[in-house]
Amino acid sequence: MATKIEASKQFTYTVAWRFANGEYPVREISMAKLLSAQMACEVADECIQIHGGWGYMKEYEVERHYRDVRLNRIGAGTDEIMLEVIGRSYGL
Ligand SMILES: Cc1cc2nc3c(=O)[nH]c(=O)nc-3n(C[C@H](O)[C@H](O)[C@H](O)COP(=O)(O)OP(=O)(O)OC[C@H]3O[C@@H](n4cnc5c(N)ncnc54)[C@H](O)[C@@H]3O)c2cc1C
Repeated sequence: MATKIEASKQFTYTVAWRFANGEYPVREISMAKLLSAQMACEVADECIQIHGGWGYMKEYEVERHYRDVRLNRIGAGTDEIMLEVIGRSYGL
């Protein structure tokens, strides 16, 4: 889980740095958004699994994180739209 988070973080920081320095790397921006959203969901899912039944209960914060991260694959451009943008950037 830490490896997935770190990889997503480093990729996102690199793309943010390029953007802050005048580039507009649309492909990599879309890739970072897609990867980070999916990784966050995978990690939250694993956290629920670690907590077992308790993780599924509304009384435990991990349940809230699980629901919250899911929005990242929908809001601000869905996974499918990111894939479309990435595909188009390769001329597909
Ligand atoms: C909690 C929450 C907060 C939000 N906050 C904001 C906000 O602050 N500002 C704002 O502007 N919007 C906000 N939204 C809206 C959000 O941006 C949209 O939900 C999102 O863009 C997806 O649009 P949709 O729900 O109409 O789904 P749809 O566009 O109907 O998509 C449904 C499914 O079809 C897929 N799909 C759609 N078109 C294509 C295509 N061309 N090719 C392949 N697949 C496709 C999608 O990927 C998705 O899986 C929020 C949504 C939620 C749930």
